[in-house]
Amino acid sequence: MLPFARVSIIGLGLIGSSIARAVRQHMPTVRLTGHDADPQVRATADRLQLCDDIADSAGAAVTDAELVILCVPVGAMEGVAREIADDLPADAVVSDVGSSKAGVATALRAALPGRPIVPAHPVAGTENSGPEAGFGSLFHGRWCILTPLEDSGSAAPRVRAFWEMLGAQVEEMTPEHHDLVLAVTSHLPHLIAYTIVGTASDLEEVTRSEVIKYSAGGFRDFTRIAASDPTMWRDVFLANKEAVLEMLQRFTEDLTALQRAIRWGDGDALFDLFTRTRAVRRSIIEQGQDDAAPDFGRSH
Ligand code: NAP
Repeated sequence: MLPFARVSIIGLGLIGSSIARAVRQHMPTVRLTGHDADPQVRATADRLQLCDDIADSAGAAVTDAELVILCVPVGAMEGVAREIADDLPADAVVSDVGSSKAGVATALRAALPGRPIVPAHPVAGTENSGPEAGFGSLFHGRWCILTPLEDSGSAAPRVRAFWEMLGAQVEEMTPEHHDLVLAVTSHLPHLIAYTIVGTASDLEEVTRSEVIKYSAGGFRDFTRIAASDPTMWRDVFLANKEAVLEMLQRFTEDLTALQRAIRWGDGDALFDLFTRTRAVRRSIIEQGQDDAAPDFGRSH
């Protein structure tokens, strides 16, 4: 039994196009309608046959939808929700995939009063953007976090069933808790990667060509994350300001402690920390959240 027979996707980039591909694979009878603000993205989506219909406006894309998923940058969610408000069928469920949740939940509720809203965040992605970057297995074995609103009612179990059919494992939590957890597992790592790559490219005593030439020493692993979409990440940091600043404060204190250990030759402190962090990597592999192959499975 399908949780939704007609699904509309607004924003056909990496995540939107991956959902479209996954729906085609796992729920082939679902009627898919899509829209993207960018006419070139719409043309590409048409060529790739991501959806049954590509509409020219967000409103036109939702007129007979049972589920609408907003897959646009976090800062664009409220605007899109307002665009679809008049065309949305009364009982259509609205969800999204934004990487921060408290601000998005408030914005969707304000734009769509009285509607069933189930904000969601599939914790899966890559550093690439756009409709050609998507793939249908993106959500297999990954977590999708739902942060249902108090009045989401029976819509939440249907959205859960939808994500489970795409191969995801689903967890529910409050938007505030989501934002705190993701601040440490995703937002802070991105901020650190953006900083390291920025610092290295600004160095004067070491040339940029040397930074690139010797990047296999560790630097290149940060560059994957630091290549992530600038619009998406600008919006995430602005939307999840409080939690990110709180985690950044903790991180800065820990960094200062490490600085002190290096300055005073406290090898035991360094060794203890590095032993603990190695165990974290092992747990991630044991829980199937990354491949066990050394060096991320690169061929040598
Ligand atoms: P993306 O590849 O850049 O796709 C976003 C698409 O939305 C773009 O084609 C963009 O067009 C379009 N768009 C922007 N504003 C719009 C509007 N007002 N109406 C209609 N379309 C609009 O980004 P993405 O990686 O799929 O990210 C989409 C959402 O997923 C974000 O909220 C992000 O936080 C979340 N997310 C991302 C990841 C990840 O790893 N990338 C993982 C989980 C969740 P333009 O190019 O013209 O702006």
